[in-house]
Amino acid sequence: MKDFTAKVTSAEGNQVVLDQTAFNPHGGGLVGDTGWIDEAKVVDTVKGPADSIMHVLEAPACLNVGAEVKGKLDWDRRHRIMRMHTSAHLLSAIFNKRTGALITGNQIQPDESRIDFSLEDFDRERMLTYCGEANTAITKNPPVKTYFMKREEALKIPGITKLATGRLAAPPDVQELRIVEIEGYDTQADGGVHVKNLGEIVKIDPIKFENKGKSNRRLYFTIP
Ligand SMILES: [Zn+2]
Repeated sequence: MKDFTAKVTSAEGNQVVLDQTAFNPHGGGLVGDTGWIDEAKVVDTVKGPADSIMHVLEAPACLNVGAEVKGKLDWDRRHRIMRMHTSAHLLSAIFNKRTGALITGNQIQPDESRIDFSLEDFDRERMLTYCGEANTAITKNPPVKTYFMKREEALKIPGITKLATGRLAAPPDVQELRIVEIEGYDTQADGGVHVKNLGEIVKIDPIKFENKGKSNRRLYFTIP
């Protein structure tokens, strides 16, 4: 969804909360969405109090509580975030399959993203091979499906989390988990934004690998 209508439920200074929104807040390694609410520029989206989603405006705007407004995402930027995020899932699945590496951190941004792996081995050639495998998968263009599953069922799926903590990102009281499946490649519990088909990524360009300690490897990558 690139645009929508909603009602203002709170507006204080440059912070606006709506009764519904397509803006994805900062979290889980992803930057927050930007765009517009009516004519006002949204420069960031963050999680607010009581599970609210707070739109941060460039400058305070005259928005009245109860007023109907039009929300519009900066779609070019958001689509890059989605492509980067699905790329990170694909890379983590392939690195995990080949080496057993788990994710110790990530930063998903529109221009350049990075993933940290727990990995003893530091062989650039081998890691480039894994990126090549990811690009082969992209050319096959499998669908990326999202659906919900009961927590206890989801926990039976091997690799449902690839975080080094071994824990799910979703809090323990969440009983229905959102599952993101790259058909044939990866199934993870995840709340973030993704493409519909792997081909949308076009290509993953590894930028560099960095040694971040004894068993921590960082991969920087981008997309065209
Ligand atoms: Zn994710």
